[in-house]
Amino acid sequence: MDRTETLPADDAGIARAAALLREGRLVAFPTETVYGLGGDATDDRAVARIFEAKGRPRFNPLIVHLPGLEEAEVVAVFDHRARAVAGAFWPGPLTLVLPLREGAGISPLVTAGLPTVAIRVPAHPVARALLRAAGRPVAAPSANPSGRVSPTRAAHVLDGLAGRIAAVVDGGACAVGVESTILGLDGEPRLLRPGGIPAEALEAALGQPLTTGGSAAKPNAPGQLASHYAPGAMVRLNARAAETGEILVGFGPVKGDLTLSPGGDLVEAAANLFHILREADALAGPQGRIAFAPIPGHGLGRAINDRLSRAAAPRG
Ligand code: AMP
Ligand code: MG
Repeated sequence: MDRTETLPADDAGIARAAALLREGRLVAFPTETVYGLGGDATDDRAVARIFEAKGRPRFNPLIVHLPGLEEAEVVAVFDHRARAVAGAFWPGPLTLVLPLREGAGISPLVTAGLPTVAIRVPAHPVARALLRAAGRPVAAPSANPSGRVSPTRAAHVLDGLAGRIAAVVDGGACAVGVESTILGLDGEPRLLRPGGIPAEALEAALGQPLTTGGSAAKPNAPGQLASHYAPGAMVRLNARAAETGEILVGFGPVKGDLTLSPGGDLVEAAANLFHILREADALAGPQGRIAFAPIPGHGLGRAINDRLSRAAAPRG
């Protein structure tokens, strides 16, 4: 990739950053917690590139950033509890996990195929200006390579991601430095990650205690992995040809009934992955079988293989 642009946090810099996001490019930007690595949450390829740039070995779900409650309600379904905590703590370091609104156009790579979505309205003026200018939901994990410390300055972002992203908006040092608190409100209120807003403050606003522990997106035992989107059909990996009755999902030279990427492109394959899982599942039917062509184990191939091996794991 080309040189990563460092953009000033002024009107021109924000306009440039918003234009890059709308083109499906990746832009790091300051929030009040840490710098986020943003990509258009409605663009499968942009979201695939987030995982590629970070070198994430898994497609764990990403937080969608929005400029306000009105825009957030387009993406997620709010109940009275969600409106109460949003009213009390947004904009700010609070992420809500809520039912995904069907038809909102959020890439299934953002939600890992789950029926819920994590959303937040950041308080940082630069983040809010950028989200308004972009005019679309922005998926943004922390702007660091997987396994490294979260960045709180533009220079930290460049240390880890220079040459891998289109731009960073330099808004100085982040104020909080710890990540957002994640509150699950898709059922009983659950603290999914401690962070910038104390759990006690959330309990006071909700008028009830929070539970902790495993969630659909953060299973704490291998047996819970099937709570990720799992096809109903049986899945076989590293297939070079279909056996009788199987739907074959190809990649590169292995043609199939469907293909993750005819040209063997891993970004395209990642962008297609959750769509193809559903499509193959529908074609195979509940008692059917799906076979996947071999996927290389480098770059995004690691995360694709991680997801496919979960789909192929025996279920109880
Ligand atoms: P990061 O990308 O490092 O900011 O982390 C995002 C966090 O949000 C991870 O801990 C995810 O597991 C969590 N998360 C995102 N979406 C969901 C969801 N739909 N349900 C539960 N947790 C989620
Ligand atoms: Mg992180």
